Amino acid sequence: MVWPSPTGKSSGACVIDGSPALRATAGPAAGLKLPIEGELQLGRAAPGFELLAEDAELSRTHASIWRDDDGVLVIEDLGSRNGTWVNGVRVERHRLETGDLIRVGESTFELIEAAPPSLLYDDELIRPWYEHALQVLAPGAVLLDFHGHTGFNDPDGFTFSAEQLVTTLEAAGARGVVMPMHEPDGYPPANDRVLAQAAASDGRLTAFCRLDPKRDAIAEATRCVDAGARGIKLHPRAEGFELSDPEVEPIFALAHERRLPILIHAGRGIPTLCRDAVALTERYPEARIVLAHAAICDLNWLWREIPRYPNLLIDTAWWHPVDLAALFALVPPGQLVFGSDLPYFTPFMSATMAVRFGLQVGLSQEQLAGILGLQGERLLEGGEPLDLGPAPGPARLGQSVLLERLTSVLVLAVGRMLMGRTGYEPLALARLACNVGDDEAPEAPVCRNVLALLEGQERFAREHPGDGPPLAPGIRSIMLAATISRTPRVPLPPLPQFARGDELRAEAQAGHRSFEATRLHRVLLPSVPPDLRHSSAADLLMVDSESD
Ligand SMILES: [Zn+2]
Repeated sequence: MVWPSPTGKSSGACVIDGSPALRATAGPAAGLKLPIEGELQLGRAAPGFELLAEDAELSRTHASIWRDDDGVLVIEDLGSRNGTWVNGVRVERHRLETGDLIRVGESTFELIEAAPPSLLYDDELIRPWYEHALQVLAPGAVLLDFHGHTGFNDPDGFTFSAEQLVTTLEAAGARGVVMPMHEPDGYPPANDRVLAQAAASDGRLTAFCRLDPKRDAIAEATRCVDAGARGIKLHPRAEGFELSDPEVEPIFALAHERRLPILIHAGRGIPTLCRDAVALTERYPEARIVLAHAAICDLNWLWREIPRYPNLLIDTAWWHPVDLAALFALVPPGQLVFGSDLPYFTPFMSATMAVRFGLQVGLSQEQLAGILGLQGERLLEGGEPLDLGPAPGPARLGQSVLLERLTSVLVLAVGRMLMGRTGYEPLALARLACNVGDDEAPEAPVCRNVLALLEGQERFAREHPGDGPPLAPGIRSIMLAATISRTPRVPLPPLPQFARGDELRAEAQAGHRSFEATRLHRVLLPSVPPDLRHSSAADLLMVDSESD
């Protein structure tokens, strides 16, 4: 059987949402974003302005934004005490343009074009944290997603088209690498497909060819590189080989000669993988070797050795907060490359995690910008990798024991949701852990953000009960919540939800509801696919492949 594909599959052409928004650039709600869908009311009493309830300069009903008969946005002062100002000029009624700065009360808002929506999974739930991460925490960083796939034949049931990939990257304002998912019948047609997708993408996509070393790999690699591929993808588990196999060596020799990156799936089930990768980087130092998925199989020893091999890198396409904490703390930042592994994870989720863990361990803006895109661009150009200094170490990873409790139940919930369950019981415990009993407690901001994600995920799961099995709907929001609870040093976006302590406590107490009261759908487990060992993402799915 084929599992349903991501939400965007059926929606056809790339939809650009035309609705603009106000973003607070200064004042007590800086970072707050308010979409302008119909009429938008501004004022202390207006919905969405809860964070500005204490702004004495702001009238209760202060101003309104609406479209006139020509479709142009107009702002109108509603008899406010202190006036409505556009670009420093007091106005009664004024036609607005993108980029206008609107001051009401103590706050300044910029009128911005809405970004195109991401159509994947629960991405739009994650957007406020993503935008905060890229606009406020790491402003100006260029995003290059070094790990993305398209394909329709992966045994795990996931499918992803070039149109979906481009739409998702566009929503994130990112460029990306595209490579085939697993193809049981061989890679040449799939490699031709990703090469054509990259050529048609107006520079958004760069193609990597995927090789099966036992099937005439050098001829295929040479053919693809000559046709424009800028790197190679190897998946030892799916294709059933080891890096020490004799057929593999010439692939590294070619990459050395042409200074190409080789992205290697690094998960469970390939015992000598990272040891072999270290040996290959010694023999072929001009090949750039990127171990995928935080090198989770070998990170616990590899971090000691990796500083000696600047052309051995690790991508960030993973979700577990403690794995990511270890990765960012222990591996030199110049050896980390941002990747999401679309369609399994998304740039919204993975880039937010990279920014938050980078800042939590103490990386600089320059180091973050390197991880998010500049290093990847270097690798694609065949340049020398940037040296971004030593690993920061784990000193800043100290954790409130209350947040450790929260992180651990969120991780438990993700574990259940990876199996296609609702994760309901651990998620209910996570809600209860968000009640820290004191609005001024240091954990309170994290708890507000986690509760907002829990509330959003539950709503999403009710509305999209079949979104992307075998994973439970909204799972990526819960993965992000686990990151937020593990990165408490890093500022959080201003949220309208649960601004008052009593609202927060009531939402947390909802953890005592019965499952029936949530109106969540019980998840019907799909049958386990025939052989997940050949999936592009066996380690990510964590579904037992031998039995159900
Ligand atoms: Zn992958």
